[in-house]
Amino acid sequence: MNIALFGINGKVGRVLAPALEEAGHGVVDARATGVVGADIVIDFTAPDVVVANISLALVERIPAVIGTTGFDQAMLDEAARAAGTPCFYAPNFALGAVLMMRFAQEAARHFPRAEIVELHADTKRDAPSGTARATAERMGGDVPIHSVRLPGLIAHQEVLFGGTGELLTIRHDTTSREVFVPGVLRAVESVRGLPPGLTVGLESLL
Ligand code: NAP
Repeated sequence: MNIALFGINGKVGRVLAPALEEAGHGVVDARATGVVGADIVIDFTAPDVVVANISLALVERIPAVIGTTGFDQAMLDEAARAAGTPCFYAPNFALGAVLMMRFAQEAARHFPRAEIVELHADTKRDAPSGTARATAERMGGDVPIHSVRLPGLIAHQEVLFGGTGELLTIRHDTTSREVFVPGVLRAVESVRGLPPGLTVGLESLL
């Protein structure tokens, strides 16, 4: 497929572009060439530009896969529905992170008190992370989130459950950005078959 990638020179984009090409897709820099003629648009940029980028795709009715976190999902869902075009967003494309969220949702049924600590590279612009927000939502909403931004980190999260005389910790660590590639490839293969609007979460494709 012909893919127009926003964020091709970013930390994720630099890993993703060659991997997409290796999987047989054509990849162009969407910022340089625009999106016209693309089969799919992918965005790994920043919270303040992602909606404008995806709007360019929606004008052309091109399905989009979004990895950028920290944007208004309801607004994008409405725009994608209005355009009759499917879009897919995963707050985390790593399989282990999806399982962490699922395990945390299960543990929340048994432990009344929990807090989330998310740790990311100091270059990450949004806080709390999309993964932490999604985890808290799955756990019932009212979960304190602590955000750490430091050089040396990639993407990490702990969900701590406190009970009388015990502490349960569920932790996921991203050790390299290659981890996001299989999930993005899955989304690229699936997005055109999704209903118009925004579908959220890698688990909805597994
Ligand atoms: P990054 O290293 O800062 O890269 C972002 C890239 O986007 C930069 O190269 C930037 O170029 C470019 N950019 C900025 N505005 C643009 C625009 N209007 N059009 C096209 N490109 C634009 O960030 P990253 O670590 O790759 O992460 C990107 C996003 O993905 C973040 O929101 C991060 O939280 C998210 N993320 C999600 C997942 C997931 O699994 N869902 C995983 C990792 C990261 P300039 O520097 O020239 O402005």
